[in-house]
Amino acid sequence: MLYHSTRSDMAFVDSAQAVLEGLAPDGGLYMPAQLPAFDWKACLQGSSLDMATDILSALLPDIPDMPNLVKKAYTGKFETEDLTPTGSVGDFHVLELFRGPTSAFKDVALSMLPQLLTAAKTAKGMQEDILILTATSGDTGKAALEGFHDVPGVRICVFYPHGGVSQVQRAQMVTQEGNNVAVCAVRGNFDDAQTGVKNIFAACRDKALPFSLSSANSINIGRLAPQVMYYFRAYRDLMDAGKISLGDEVNFSVPTGNFGDILAGYLAKLLGLPVGKLICASNANNVLTDFITTGTYDKRRPLLKTTSPSMDILVSSNLERLLYLLSGDTALVASLMKQLNTEGVYTVPADLLAKIQAEFCCGFCDDKKADEVMGRVYQELGYLCDPHTAAGWAAAEEYTAATGDQRPMVVLSTASPYKFPVAVLTAIGGDTSGDEFQQMERLSAMTGVAIPKNLSGLQGKEEKHTGVIDKDKMLDYVLNL
Ligand SMILES: *Cc1c(COP(=O)(O)O)cnc(C)c1O
Repeated sequence: MLYHSTRSDMAFVDSAQAVLEGLAPDGGLYMPAQLPAFDWKACLQGSSLDMATDILSALLPDIPDMPNLVKKAYTGKFETEDLTPTGSVGDFHVLELFRGPTSAFKDVALSMLPQLLTAAKTAKGMQEDILILTATSGDTGKAALEGFHDVPGVRICVFYPHGGVSQVQRAQMVTQEGNNVAVCAVRGNFDDAQTGVKNIFAACRDKALPFSLSSANSINIGRLAPQVMYYFRAYRDLMDAGKISLGDEVNFSVPTGNFGDILAGYLAKLLGLPVGKLICASNANNVLTDFITTGTYDKRRPLLKTTSPSMDILVSSNLERLLYLLSGDTALVASLMKQLNTEGVYTVPADLLAKIQAEFCCGFCDDKKADEVMGRVYQELGYLCDPHTAAGWAAAEEYTAATGDQRPMVVLSTASPYKFPVAVLTAIGGDTSGDEFQQMERLSAMTGVAIPKNLSGLQGKEEKHTGVIDKDKMLDYVLNL
């Protein structure tokens, strides 16, 4: 199947090449020239692994042996066999995406991406190793390390801001085992680490290196495509619970950062799944709320630090894919992205905004509101959720109150409450003293909700990666790996 850049439809690559390259040479993101015909009703019949196989075979047909790759990616790695369970909480349904090996929703995609990359590498006869370079604000780094450790032909290097991730997140990364992993703290903030990684890509472009560089971020279609599965899974779970009949439309509220998760929901809809509205939930960094409301995307504002750090982002890369899908106009997308780069702002034409608003709604929630929601959902409904999920819940409530839309609402839950114990304890009236491990214990004693084993097991584990470097030493670090 042919893929091209969102910024030009002159050059084509197949789906295996798109996964290997990550980003198109013109800086755009790879998209299929045409979406495949898809039997969505048949897809709903299978297990989660069958669903993943059907969807990935359709979107990435040039990567062979998909059933086997899916089995290797997921078998025995998640808490539940269905990978992403959905349960009813009050008037809503919660799709839990955090039951994977690192308790982050990124596990769904980052368990699969290494399989896709290595199979694409074989399919293309590529000899040299791939080095995955990742800057992380906390969650992506560990999920990528877990996915890529000890994968033959691939190495992975993760940079995180020194003092800029939680104690638990740091412990997750610095205790990582595996012969092909490197983890290093950078003196600076997340933006410094991210800029450093981009500079390494630029500096290495013309160098003859013993490896080729790639990325584990959701700009890679191989990271995005595996996320389509859980929309089908949730839909099927609602059918099995007697909440809907085949063909009924379902709304989804999605805590959003880079726009990858919610875009996967839109791809599910394009593949035929009866998706109603997709609700884009932000935190106080509400660039997307403004955009979906007005059509103007304006990143010229300070990045706020919130209790939902994985959504602290001003440039949502995958929005570019939506602009392409709804306009079909690569020249328009190229021009908008150029404006964003040079001026920090762009406005979409009125007809494109109308198309976006027909599919998407939006809402945002500051830390105070997230605190209120976490407390209320726990006290009234007995459900413990994290601050990212609280943003999704708040947007879903606001949408339902404003529209009276009666269609079932699924709120995507993107992190375990145990990854953010201070915010969660504060919300439910608990004592927040002590270190994060003591806080986790207290949260568990208060609520009876079990601590995920991968998190409780971190305490006392050997720290293998304790390096800290200046941000201008990142390239040297990579060249010396
Ligand atoms: C990454 C992440 C998000 C945002 O997902 P996008 O695909 O970037 O929109 C939301 N919540 C959590 C906990 C995350 O780790």
